[in-house]
Formats: sequence, structure tokens, C-alpha cells
Amino acid sequence: MSLAPYAALEEHSRGRRYSEASPTYRGEYQRDRDRIVHSSAFRRLEYKTQVFVNHEGDMFRTRLTHSIEVAQIGRAIARRLGLNEDLIEAISLAHDLGHTPFGHAGQDVLNECMKDHGGFEHNLQSLRIVDHLEQRYAEFMGLNLTFETREGILKHCSVKNAKEMGDVGERFLNKTQPSLEGQAANIADAIAYNNHDIDDGLRANFLSLEQMCEVDLFREQYEAVKKKYPDLGGRRQVHEIIRRMINAQAVDLIDESARRIKQAAPSHIDDVREHADLLIGFSEEMAEHNRDLKRFLRANLYRHYRVHRMTNKAKRILVALFDAYFEDPRILPHHTQEMVRAEEEENGLSGRARRICDYVAGMTDRYAILEYERIYNPTTLT
Ligand code: MG
Repeated sequence: MSLAPYAALEEHSRGRRYSEASPTYRGEYQRDRDRIVHSSAFRRLEYKTQVFVNHEGDMFRTRLTHSIEVAQIGRAIARRLGLNEDLIEAISLAHDLGHTPFGHAGQDVLNECMKDHGGFEHNLQSLRIVDHLEQRYAEFMGLNLTFETREGILKHCSVKNAKEMGDVGERFLNKTQPSLEGQAANIADAIAYNNHDIDDGLRANFLSLEQMCEVDLFREQYEAVKKKYPDLGGRRQVHEIIRRMINAQAVDLIDESARRIKQAAPSHIDDVREHADLLIGFSEEMAEHNRDLKRFLRANLYRHYRVHRMTNKAKRILVALFDAYFEDPRILPHHTQEMVRAEEEENGLSGRARRICDYVAGMTDRYAILEYERIYNPTTLT
């Protein structure tokens, strides 16, 4: 299927921060995706928490499998709407690169540790990784991705931060929209995590089928599956329900977005950016169902006492690591120590804090736990 005129077409790209010759046999957004897949931050997603910490079991989602699911859903949406699949794939695979160990608990802790030094936000950190922290190429720091991929990664941003973000921050100041690929990746993320969190929650027995039936979206599909396959039980029943939920949401999203696009009739990506509202979105009914589902998951899964215990443990680990490094950076590995020192020479203690924050944020769950042991347990080898 050829791309729609309102898709992110390469010839309308705002380009890269450092200009480079076009790749041979690949498109610009394919190159972005490939650079993301080859980055070290991407590999570390394998051992970072989505909701369940990696050591809790091998069957749960991690940030890596989550990102792949987002890309899969995103590409399906993109293809149907004539959007750029390569771009949506690049955005989806990169969108969580900036996540700390231990999921949202980690982000809150680092934000608190950084309160006098500019704060911490995983979304900004994803961009910081692709713009500055990855060290792979001879001619620039970071991955030197296209504007469109970077714009999609920066899903949200405070006005204060936006002022310091340059080109990708502008839309938060002049209230314009991102590309349709960016908009769609954002919703594909929500479809993926809402549905796989139910799946993981049921698998862990933190949620029950009876409880899940309080949620309209789930109950509808539960009843349909029960009617068609009355004897089906166990994991196959759960998967049959969840795959139908994902499908219902994707279909609704595509139908509603196609309707909005038809009405707005954008003929260029700039029309999309200047449109007053987002053009990719659920119907009002599906949006309400989704809000219910989110409320349910917040109350019953994310605040489940066993999830909460791990959250608390995670907070203690990360505060302890940050404090120990900040108090005496000489306990950091040589390479990191040098970066901390260089940044401190330039920006004082806030520079020291920022580099330590980068280091802690980049850790996998298991590395953070191991580091905590090495630093605080006198009998563990350092
Ligand atoms: Mg995500």
C-alpha cells in the first residue's frame, strides 16, 4: 500500500541534527529503526520491568517485549491508514529507552533525587539517550535520528522543559501536533500495556476472571468467548479474550481515525501538525471504556500489595545507589567516574547529579540489585 499524502514522507522530513548522506538501499526511517535496534539501551530493555520485575518469572512482559508489541500494533494501524510503517516502528521501539529500572517507581525516585538539579522524566530521558548518551558513531554522540522519530519519542513535556528542548520542544509551546505516526505510536503503547498487564496480572493470580468482568471491555469479550467455546478454559481462554480486546481497540482506533482524517482532509504532514486536535484517537465510547480499564488496573493491579512491596524495595535500592554515588563518585567505575567529573567541571553539583542519574537510570533491574549488594553488603565482593 502506498503512503497517504498526510503520512510522514521522507521527502518532507525535517532531517537529522548532523547531516549525513542518505543510506543505500534503506529509507531514512528504516535507518533510524536499525540504529535503535543496535543501541545498547535497547538491549537493556530485556531486563527492565514493565510491571513485574524480571526475576519474578520468565513469562512476564519486559520493556523489550512490550516495545515489540507496541511496534506490532503500531505497524498494523499505520499500514491500514497509509502511514509510514518504518517511522512508527522506530518510534515504538525507542519510546521506552529512557525507562529506569523497576518501572514507574524508579522514575519517581530519580525525579525526587534530582529535584534540585532539574528533575527526571523517562520521556525526556529516552530522547537524551538517542541524542547524547549512546556512544557508537565516529561523527556524533547519540544516534543522530531524524526529527520525526525524535518528535515521536517526546510524547509529553512540560513547558519549562520544552523551552530547553530546541526543535522537538516547539510543539509544546506553540500547541501543534506531532505526526500521525507519533500520535498512533502513543495509542499503540496504551493498547499494548493495558492488555498485556491484564494478561500478566491474571498469570500472576493478582487478578481473577471474575474481578476482570467488572470491566466492560473485558466482560464483552469474555461472554463472546464463553458462548462460542463453552468448554475452553485456562490460558487459551485468557488469550482468546485478550486478543479480541486488542483487535476491538485497534479496529475502533482505525475507524475513528480514518473518519477524522477524512473530515480534516490533510494533504501534507504540516496540515496534520497544524490541526487543532489529534487526528488519531478512539471513538468516544471506546475512550470511555479505556479510561475505565485504566482505573481498574490502577486500583487492582498497580496497587496490589505484592506489586507495592516490590515498588517499595525498588525505591530503597535506587535512593541508596544514587546517594552513595553522589556522596563519593570515586566508587563509580572508571569510565563513568570520568564522565561525572567532566560534567561536574562544567555544571557543578548539578552536573555530577545528572551523570549519576543517567548511570542509575540506565541500569537493568538485576544490575541495580547486584550493585546495591556490592555497595552495601560488606560480605559481597565489590
Ligand atoms: Mg510503553
